[in-house]
Amino acid sequence: MMKKFSFLMMIIIFVMVFPGKGQAASGHSNIYLDGTELVLATNAKIETIQNNVMIPVRVVVENLGFKVAWDKNNQSVTINNDSTVIHLVVNNKSGYVNGSKVTLPIGPALKTDTVLVPIRFVSEQLGLQVNWDNASKKVYLISSDTGSGKPETKPEPTPELALINSLSYSDNRLMISTTGSIEPKVSVMTSPNRIVIDIPYAKFSETFGTSQQLDSNLQGSFHVVGYPDLDQVRYSLYNNSPSTVRIVMDLNYAKNYTVYAEGSLLFVALNTSDTSNPGTSVGGNGKKIAVIDAGHGNQDPGAIGVTGKKEKAFNLAVALKVDQLLKKEPKIDGVLTRSNDIFLELKERVKIANDLKADVFISIHANSSGSSAATGTETYYKNDRSKALANVMHKYLVRATGFKDRGVRYGNFHVIRETNMAAVLLEAGYLSNKQDEAGLFTESLQNRVAQGIVDGIKEYLGLN
Ligand SMILES: [Zn+2]
Repeated sequence: MMKKFSFLMMIIIFVMVFPGKGQAASGHSNIYLDGTELVLATNAKIETIQNNVMIPVRVVVENLGFKVAWDKNNQSVTINNDSTVIHLVVNNKSGYVNGSKVTLPIGPALKTDTVLVPIRFVSEQLGLQVNWDNASKKVYLISSDTGSGKPETKPEPTPELALINSLSYSDNRLMISTTGSIEPKVSVMTSPNRIVIDIPYAKFSETFGTSQQLDSNLQGSFHVVGYPDLDQVRYSLYNNSPSTVRIVMDLNYAKNYTVYAEGSLLFVALNTSDTSNPGTSVGGNGKKIAVIDAGHGNQDPGAIGVTGKKEKAFNLAVALKVDQLLKKEPKIDGVLTRSNDIFLELKERVKIANDLKADVFISIHANSSGSSAATGTETYYKNDRSKALANVMHKYLVRATGFKDRGVRYGNFHVIRETNMAAVLLEAGYLSNKQDEAGLFTESLQNRVAQGIVDGIKEYLGLN
């Protein structure tokens, strides 16, 4: 509360010292910093330019304790405090922060004597959490408690926020992986049909919430192929008091849903017509649980092929095909650690499998070597309990790729070491080899590998 109070005081002082400007600014800026609406000295306002939400930079940074200097001749702005110097030029995507070049999604714009910058720049370079509420056209900025340069008193102890680590959609249900206790509020909205999951006292984890996974409006979304009920999943930091993560499942039709938790995993399942899958728990009705892990993702491409193809894309494509095949298996519940191009830490992948008490864990990868001659298929296991699974999976994998058989191998990889169940890591082929790379990115090979993975899981679990 002290924080908001002292900030309010600043605004009151500002209005008293500059009464004329204060009157001119009686309109709404729609920019909130730590819960308080900013007062604009001019009639500058939020604008959307080429799909980028742009905000007047001066009022924001001045309230964070920066000085702003405008050079009219060069059309440039210099923003600085004791530790940071930011230099921007109107209409120029390139800027400098402490002498290092940075690239903006769109160059700063000059409107009504005010320089507007994309909100994404504010989040990336000033370290603010930014949330754009498109419906109300309001920007919520949340400053960190340290290094803001604001004339702060001691920061208030804040309640420990739960973390949203990852989102994945498979087997017609959304999986939200969290750290800390959460009390989600799930509701249905219509026109358009959607399920809204609000998680108060939560924020995105460092790895998931980095702005690279959010668009220029600081929201993220993904589509999932093969699920006609679901249009897309959207996520954003929806509110700042309390910090609330909102996840929206945009539906193509009105659907019933079931919500349940497995350890730190929250599931929102769309009810299917398949009565064998009532969707009340993962592994219900005696089903076996197979966690399918597409290696790497987002900023971590994995191996890069000879023609530049990325391992993360191969891994995900196969995992999605496995999910579609497992959907048809009445005795297996399949769960993907990721269903789109997001990044998960290794320990996060392990936690998903361990929380679910999965029966098998299959991590999908492709390999790379310094020698372009290296070619073929390998299967790795770490613990003795995984050896039988490795043997079965390798048999099907080699058959599916048709590549050289490089054998079942021992490997000390994190995801197969730290998981509590039978776990293997598949290296389907070598992206550093021209023939392997070409084959791995064909639809037919990916289909065969996906089918081989499902056949191997079934044989290992005795479900044939
Ligand atoms: Zn890999």
